[in-house]
Amino acid sequence: MSPSDLTQKIEALLQLQENELETASLRSSLADVPRRLSLLETQLEELKTRMAQSESRMSDLQKSYRQYESETQSIQAKVEKSNEKLRTVKTNKEYQAGLQEIEDLNRLQSGVEDKMLECLEAIDEAEAAVASDRDSAETFAGQMEAEKVQVDRESADMKQKLEQLQRMREQIVGGIDSDLLKKYEQTKPYTGTTVVAAVKASICQGCNMNIPPQMYNELQRFDRLLVCPHCERIIYPHGRLENG
Ligand SMILES: [Zn+2]
Repeated sequence: MSPSDLTQKIEALLQLQENELETASLRSSLADVPRRLSLLETQLEELKTRMAQSESRMSDLQKSYRQYESETQSIQAKVEKSNEKLRTVKTNKEYQAGLQEIEDLNRLQSGVEDKMLECLEAIDEAEAAVASDRDSAETFAGQMEAEKVQVDRESADMKQKLEQLQRMREQIVGGIDSDLLKKYEQTKPYTGTTVVAAVKASICQGCNMNIPPQMYNELQRFDRLLVCPHCERIIYPHGRLENG
């Protein structure tokens, strides 16, 4: 075989290899699309859950506030009743007891009122948290829609590119003779997508091992298809091809 024939063959194989590498990388990007989309959905769900938690905390606080309110009303009613009783007592001892009762009730009342103030502050904070969580969720939902449009566009581009690569592949394969193609396909399971490798300064660039001197000399003549004795890759001398 003349070196120019061999050059042509190796170049065709390298084109095929490049095509397959690009195809594999696009396929893996395409396969990643559902994961990217579901990640966005998960993030939105998390924001919604956080908002729901803030809302539920706010409604708990509002419920507590209403309970305190009805507590103060019932204390107030008791105070009024005690005041009425005070007007009808006969002895000083009963009068003192009645005063004490009212004082106790007022202390109780003031304690509940303190709690109501604390509760109002907490409600303000909870309202702010709900508003901020809602804001985050809405902003993210907007970004997510834009991201989805972008992802859809990328997917469509990748699919189109894959079709192009497929058509190119058919062309490339059409120009490779069947024995060589068979050799390439048979080697691929052992080597992965890189089936053809340059040999640079006696070292196979596919496996980084040294080529024996005799084979290296033969490789320089470049008149016969050789494979690396270590990794089985089809080898060619570095610098002999336009792109390699
Ligand atoms: Zn090798």
